[in-house]
Amino acid sequence: MEPIIGIDLGTTNSEVAFIFDGTTEIITDNDNGILPSCVSIGENGNIIVGAEAANQALINPEKTVFSVKRCMGTDQKLKAEKKINSPVSKAVITVPAYFTDAQRQATREAGEIAGLEVVRIINEPTAASLAYESTNPETQRVLVYDLGGGTFDVSIVKIEAGVVEVLSSTGDNNLGGDDFDLKIVDHLVKHMETEFNYSVKDKPAVMARLKRASEGAKIQLSSEPYTTIEADHICKKGFKDIHLSLELSRTEFEEMIEEDLVRTMESVNKAMRDAAMLPSAINEIILVGGSTRIPRISQMLEEKIGHLPHSEIDPDLCVAIGAGMQAGREMGLERSGVLVDITPYTFGTSAIGDADGEPIMTMFVPLIRRNTKLPARKSEVFYTMYNNQDAVDVKIYQGEAVDARDNILLGNYMFNLTRAPSGSEIVLHFDLDLNGILKIKAVEKKTGNNIKAVIENAISRFSDEELSKTQDRINGLWTEGRDSEISLKEKAQTEADIKELSSDEYAGIIRRAEAKLSQASEDDRDEMINLIEDIRDAVMKNRMEDAETFKNELDEILFYIG
Ligand code: AMP
Repeated sequence: MEPIIGIDLGTTNSEVAFIFDGTTEIITDNDNGILPSCVSIGENGNIIVGAEAANQALINPEKTVFSVKRCMGTDQKLKAEKKINSPVSKAVITVPAYFTDAQRQATREAGEIAGLEVVRIINEPTAASLAYESTNPETQRVLVYDLGGGTFDVSIVKIEAGVVEVLSSTGDNNLGGDDFDLKIVDHLVKHMETEFNYSVKDKPAVMARLKRASEGAKIQLSSEPYTTIEADHICKKGFKDIHLSLELSRTEFEEMIEEDLVRTMESVNKAMRDAAMLPSAINEIILVGGSTRIPRISQMLEEKIGHLPHSEIDPDLCVAIGAGMQAGREMGLERSGVLVDITPYTFGTSAIGDADGEPIMTMFVPLIRRNTKLPARKSEVFYTMYNNQDAVDVKIYQGEAVDARDNILLGNYMFNLTRAPSGSEIVLHFDLDLNGILKIKAVEKKTGNNIKAVIENAISRFSDEELSKTQDRINGLWTEGRDSEISLKEKAQTEADIKELSSDEYAGIIRRAEAKLSQASEDDRDEMINLIEDIRDAVMKNRMEDAETFKNELDEILFYIG
């Protein structure tokens, strides 16, 4: 059978996938399979592509071009042939959903230049949905949030009987991780100006180093609450070497990018509006692109849509995996799967907090969420309650319940603190590996004092008796002597049904009202438009009672119009 590869030809990075023994895999070459879309001219005038070229950017910023696609195809093809051990002449290539025919044609040509027949071009959100389809055949309406290095796209995709259709797509061609790096660079430049009274803005080599360091810091802040940006001998002021060392917190970084993220959420609203869909109608949220690892993004999407996005498949690889699956289809292969190692449970700790405005002494704070790809590292910062607090009880739980006591206690560690004012920071690190070994570290930020613990077999050890005991306790809260498991499922189903029903109902009346706008008097029309917006707004914010009131008012106007 002639091999067909799937290529995600991205602006920042490119990846290739192929189906080996029914499983879609990313082709790697002693690396993670991600090839920077970067070309550089070496010292002898030779052309360098990929990671090596990205490294050249540090030494030779003027001779390096990022975001090039044409040469990349060739390199990808060569790599695939080596791994598949056979010549490769056909490929499925992905493109952004908004690409025009001319741009699609240019992509085809880029493939041809690389010596590949492009058997099919598919949209990136379609590919991402295909990658997840194998893990959830039920998926119906999917929101694909794609934030890469330089672009942002959001699409609503409908999957019905294996047919994937992009209902709407919108975004921003000039927004991505690079902008976030530059926000940190700005911060560093300002810091150097105030700290050393020295401006580095017009020094490309220094700026390139700062950009590298900023990207590293940004990536670190996706799993850690703090990072220290260090760059020794970054430049010279007179004869004196300048060493940069600056701490940056996740909170500070989130503030720098908040405005950009809010803009992406406005695009999410627009995509839903264009697809005539309310948040409650979205079954799945898929994250694509390296920048979606920023935790604030999942948080914002959860607030808006009401459930957490998927994170099982690496967001950098999921478009390539989908392209690989489509390539498999083109080869006539049966549906193929993806191998993903995920944690089936959530791990976290307890802290004093509030749930729905009510204070709770034992609130569960999840660190590593269910369905997170393994290995996973997460850290979170906590604060002491009292002045001179001399110890903290660190409890580690597995479970989903809001009250930590309803979850399974995996470990309990007393951590002695140096006496300090209330609000002193304690950073808790979780590190969960593929074998289910959970490593814990609690660090007193000010002194660096810490305790460490290892929980062996954290994933499976409580899966039997103890798990069902805790489950029974939780279920007992919902039920009165009935078969608890069934009733929990029923409850979830009923909630889903209600949500589904109401969302269809609101979408229905909005459609009816929009169809009648042309027949309405000017006053009625204004009123109807306001009510439509009010309904959308109320549903978006989950204010269902208000939505119901607005709906009734709109219904009344429609009744009179006839
Ligand atoms: P992509 O274009 O999808 O390959 O995404 C590349 C962008 O993702 C770059 O700006 C990276 O710096 C960014 N990125 C990769 N990993 C992370 C991470 N863990 N946290 C935040 N941004 C990341």
